[in-house]
Amino acid sequence: MKILDGQLVSQATKDDLKIKVADLVQQGLKVPHLAAVLVGNDGASETYVGSKVRTCEEIGYKSTLIRLDKSIDESELLETIRKLNEDDDVDGILVQLPLPAGISEQKVIDAIDASKDVDGFHSINVGRMVQGLPTFVPATPHGIMLLLEYYKIDTKGMNAAVIGRSNIVGRPMSILLSAATNPGNCTVTLCHSQTKNIAEICRNSDLIVAALGKPGFLKADMVKEGAIVIDVGISRVTDPSKKRGYSIKGDVDFDGVAPKCSYITPVPGGVGPMTIAALMKNTFRACTAK
Ligand code: NAP
Repeated sequence: MKILDGQLVSQATKDDLKIKVADLVQQGLKVPHLAAVLVGNDGASETYVGSKVRTCEEIGYKSTLIRLDKSIDESELLETIRKLNEDDDVDGILVQLPLPAGISEQKVIDAIDASKDVDGFHSINVGRMVQGLPTFVPATPHGIMLLLEYYKIDTKGMNAAVIGRSNIVGRPMSILLSAATNPGNCTVTLCHSQTKNIAEICRNSDLIVAALGKPGFLKADMVKEGAIVIDVGISRVTDPSKKRGYSIKGDVDFDGVAPKCSYITPVPGGVGPMTIAALMKNTFRACTAK
């Protein structure tokens, strides 16, 4: 069993970007600028945005964090996005999800200029991804593809199960794994809460991506010997032994499943850091592809 070390690959990706940014500076060109919009003060969202901003600083990007009160209405948020779209210095815009009830996430995402949509959630970019055209690929599935690529895992011809069909993880993951690329070229089964025989589908899979948000869902008896398991889940589980009162758990019962795997991602230290690395790659592209 080998660990797919997201921390290590993320660092390698960031180091590569640091060099590229230094190159831009040396040529007198502008450095990438990411603008993040955070509505409200949800703890997990604060953590995610905070680490995105810190990573920008680490690589040498410019970043702007716009905080909006959770009571704002949709039109105020759309106006903020309009201003960022028009700001030529801003290359990438992300709106941290989820948004408060009453604000349409898709409307907000589709208000972002598609050429600045570094999260890859805009309808135009999703369409381009489905067609296999160059675009911004959503950061989490993009990060997983980078991880598979780094470890030179040849997924051609594999049966893959993706558990979870969200627009940000599961569905794009299923599209990327089924594309005629390497990594890719898998035969994919996309599972969700209405799927009847998940255990059987997983047992028949060479590659499993668990992205459902149910801690410890994927158990050893659902995994065949030698499978590759990618754990996307991040759940806060109450843990009085921790100072902060909770632990972070993935969707995979790691201790039971790991011994059966050829490769597995840990939580934390697997997909999470790769998501940020992929976002940084998208932001670099937004800046330099103009
Ligand atoms: P989401 O929008 O809540 O989607 C969850 C998906 O899982 C849905 O498609 C749902 O099916 C499916 N599902 C729920 N219970 C199921 C069950 N018992 N059996 C089979 N499928 C089930 O979640 P998400 O945004 O995709 O995130 C999934 C997990 O990944 C969460 O823990 C999240 O925190 C984590 N995450 C991690 C990263 C990272 O960087 N590591 C990034 C994003 C998300 P239905 O569609 O039928 O409801």
